[in-house]
Amino acid sequence: MSVESGIPTFRGKDGLWTRYGPPPMDGFSRFREDPAGWWERRVNREMDDHMIELRDALIAARPHAGHHALAALEQAGAVQHVITQNIDGLDLKAGLKNLIEIHGNRTRLRCIGCGRRTALGDIVPEEPPEPCGQCGQVVKFDTVMFGEPVPSDTMKAAREQIDRASCVLAVGTSASVRPASGLLWIAMSQGATIIEINPFETKLTSICDVVIRARAGEALSQLASVLDPEQDSLDNPDSMHESDVRSSMSRNGSRL
Ligand SMILES: [Zn+2]
Repeated sequence: MSVESGIPTFRGKDGLWTRYGPPPMDGFSRFREDPAGWWERRVNREMDDHMIELRDALIAARPHAGHHALAALEQAGAVQHVITQNIDGLDLKAGLKNLIEIHGNRTRLRCIGCGRRTALGDIVPEEPPEPCGQCGQVVKFDTVMFGEPVPSDTMKAAREQIDRASCVLAVGTSASVRPASGLLWIAMSQGATIIEINPFETKLTSICDVVIRARAGEALSQLASVLDPEQDSLDNPDSMHESDVRSSMSRNGSRL
């Protein structure tokens, strides 16, 4: 989803870490050792090159057709909840209501004491943020750093949604980063139907019930156009009917 809004991935051929080298794996402990110095460097734009590229991409990013399609699917009642590893906040901008951002949201701050989240405003703050107004502890970007556990309230909420799911769309994920990837295996073990939407094969592919080999924006837009009750597809010969989607799925994927 993020890639189609111009945000580079971390891993893979053109990923930030592939091009700039792997990041330090102890980001969170470095932050905790010296939060004031950490923020001072951010405010003064003293950052690694890959972080500067990511920051600039986040500033420029806008929701694409896939984000809007997900919001439409939610509004139509076809999607109950979205769990994302993306940090760009574009799902919210597109109007999604029921959203869990496992790795946080780069447009927010979070207190490391009580977990309270507040709006950041600009992606690049002019000043280091004030301590938490609720408990007085230091605050950081809401995004989860290396060495930092995913906040327990976030994982608890994600697990609750997975436990309720009869069908999970796995959109554009390599399914290789825990703990989010583990949720897919939990859903599968609980009997949920798993549908992969991804232009590439992943480690999830062989165990999915349905595979749609397409980019997120294209596939979600087609699903939304089929399932949106407001749209009279009979009047629109170019739109895909449900039977077309089903045959496309089985043609491109494994078993249906
Ligand atoms: Zn606090």
